Amino acid sequence: VLVEAASAAGIRLTLLDTCYLAGGLGPNGHLPLDPVQKRFSDGDAAGWRRRFTLLADRFDPTPSRTGAVRVGAAIHSVRAVAATDIPTVVAAAEGRPLHVHLSEQPSENAACQSYYGATPTALLHVSGVLGPSTTAVHATHLTDDDISLLGTSSTAVCFCPTTERDLADGIGPARRLLDAGSRPCLGTDQHALTDLLEEARALEMDERLASGERGRIELSQLVEALTVHGQRSIGWVDAGELRVGARADLVAVRMDSPRTAGSLVSQVVMSASAADVDAVIVDGRTVVEGGRHVLGNVGGLLQSSIEPLWR
Ligand SMILES: [Zn+2]
Repeated sequence: VLVEAASAAGIRLTLLDTCYLAGGLGPNGHLPLDPVQKRFSDGDAAGWRRRFTLLADRFDPTPSRTGAVRVGAAIHSVRAVAATDIPTVVAAAEGRPLHVHLSEQPSENAACQSYYGATPTALLHVSGVLGPSTTAVHATHLTDDDISLLGTSSTAVCFCPTTERDLADGIGPARRLLDAGSRPCLGTDQHALTDLLEEARALEMDERLASGERGRIELSQLVEALTVHGQRSIGWVDAGELRVGARADLVAVRMDSPRTAGSLVSQVVMSASAADVDAVIVDGRTVVEGGRHVLGNVGGLLQSSIEPLWR
């Protein structure tokens, strides 16, 4: 259903099949799943691998030029997957994108330190998780050694600033991770706000608030986080940049909206919002034209789909 919906909406899709086996991590080990969490679980790592293999085998691991779906894997977090189960996911994800939520809140670090005697980053490192095809999501509360491990292993880092502010998680060390060698990319991690331009500028704005300095991350680096690094993180190595042979993905932003009028092109990442997107072309197919999506009024479609769920 997801694959068909993405195809209809013109979304090139990376499905990250997530291993989620425990309800949390306390100082004495992992907690059982609560009734709401049970539906996320495959019972054990072998169960996850069996289901993952069935899904992954349906799609080409490295899709052709026209392929629009690929499957990757995710370790939800060290809270939801025990260290003994992590290698099963790493092995299954070989050659595919691998994502993991990392140190989003201090309580994860405290529980991990207490139970394993290591930070979550160090635990992922010894479990073989870190590397260029891996993305750590959030990476908010890190030690100097954690930053060094993520940077030297070229692990990508996916910041989700609007979620991190919403949940009062804190501000991650974006500038220091960039300096250490991690590629930054951006996610939403929720549905309350879906505006990648807001996520991008929040990366710099949060750095300003935390450091008391402006100009911590260059605007061109924010654009790379929005485009090429994001595409790499979900496995589309031939997308996200304008060059001969790359996939024809283009986003055009109106320069005459109340927000963008008077902006220089280089400033658009700081002034525009998702509402200013005028055209979107995905793999050469026009998906948004004149601000209108091919499916019609997306807000109205969402309203008519979500409303019945409350009844
Ligand atoms: Zn998250």
